[in-house]
Amino acid sequence: AKELGKSMFKVFNRKMHDQALKLLALETDLRRAVDLDEFVLAYQPIVRLETRHISGFEALIRWPHPEHGTISPDRFIPLAEDTGLIYAIDNLVLNKACEQVRLWQKQFGNDELTLNINISGKHFGQAILPGQVSRALEASGLSPECLNIEITESALMENPSVAEDILKQIKNLGANVCIDDFGTGYSSLSYLQRFPIDVVKLDRSFINDVDDNLDSQAIVRTVFALGRSLDLKIVAEGVETPQQLAFLEREGCRYVQGFLFYKPLFADDVDEVLSGDKHR
Ligand code: C2E
Ligand code: CA
Ligand code: CA
Ligand code: CA
Repeated sequence: AKELGKSMFKVFNRKMHDQALKLLALETDLRRAVDLDEFVLAYQPIVRLETRHISGFEALIRWPHPEHGTISPDRFIPLAEDTGLIYAIDNLVLNKACEQVRLWQKQFGNDELTLNINISGKHFGQAILPGQVSRALEASGLSPECLNIEITESALMENPSVAEDILKQIKNLGANVCIDDFGTGYSSLSYLQRFPIDVVKLDRSFINDVDDNLDSQAIVRTVFALGRSLDLKIVAEGVETPQQLAFLEREGCRYVQGFLFYKPLFADDVDEVLSGDKHR
C-alpha cells in the first residue's frame, strides 16, 4: 500500500508539473500575443426590437493561437487577469473596437451605432481606466454617448468606493456604464441606486429557461419592471429561440442580443450585414 501511495503521488505530481508547464507556456504565448497584437475582434449585434435593426455591437475578443487554434476568452482572460496582461488586452480591444465602430458609423451614415466593451473586474478597479477610455474616444472620434462600458456586479462591489469614483469619471467623459451578467453576482439591488448605471444586461441563464421555468419568468418580469422604474435600458442576452423572444416582447423588452438574430461576427461579415440592414 505504501508503494502504491508513492507511485500515485509521483503520477499526481507529474500531472501537476505538466499542467504548470503548460500554463507557463500559455502565459509566454499570451505575452507575445499582446506584444504583436495577435487578437481578433468579433462583433455581436444588439438588435432594437421595435425596428429589428441593429442598434450596436458588443466587441468580443478572439485569440487565434498559432498552434492550438482559436482559444476562447473564458480560457485566457483569467490567465490575463492573474498575470496583469488584462490591462493591455482590454485597452487593445477598446482602441480597435472604437476605431472600427466609428468607421462603420461613417461608412453607413449612422452616427448612432453603439459599442459595448467588456472591462474585466480587475481592470475596472484601476485608476488608469478613465484615461484609457478618454484616449480611445479621442483617437477614434467616436462620440462618448455611443460607448458602453460593461462591467459585472462583482467588479462594482469588490471595492464600492473606488468603483464609484471610477464610474463617475467615466460618466464625466460622457460614456455609459452597463452591468453585465445581471442577476448572477451580488444579491443586493441597492447598488443600482447608488451608482450611475445606464444599461443592464439580463444574464442569459434566465433567458435560457424562460420557456418552462416559472421562477425565471418571474425574475425576467421583475427586472423589466425595475428597469422601467429606475429608467435603465435593459438588454436581454443569449436569446436563442422565437419562444424566448415572444416572452421577452410581451414583457416590454426593447433590446436583445443572441444567436436567434446574430452570432458574433468578424468585421467583414458585419460590413455585409450592415449594408443589408440599411436597405430594409
Ligand atoms: P459575456 O460578456 O457575457 O459575452 C457574451 C458571451 O455569450 C459571448 O461568449 C458570446 O459569444 C456568447 N453568446 C452570445 N449570444 C449567445 C446565445 O444566444 N447563446 C449562447 N449560448 N451564447 C451566446 P464569448 O465571446 O466566448 O465570451 C465569453 C466571455 O469572455 C464574455 O462573456 C466576457 O466575459 C469575456 N470577454 C470577451 N471579450 C472580452 C474582452 O475583450 N475583454 C474582457 N475583459 N473580457 C472579454
Ligand atoms: Ca459582456
Ligand atoms: Ca454577459
Ligand atoms: Ca460573462
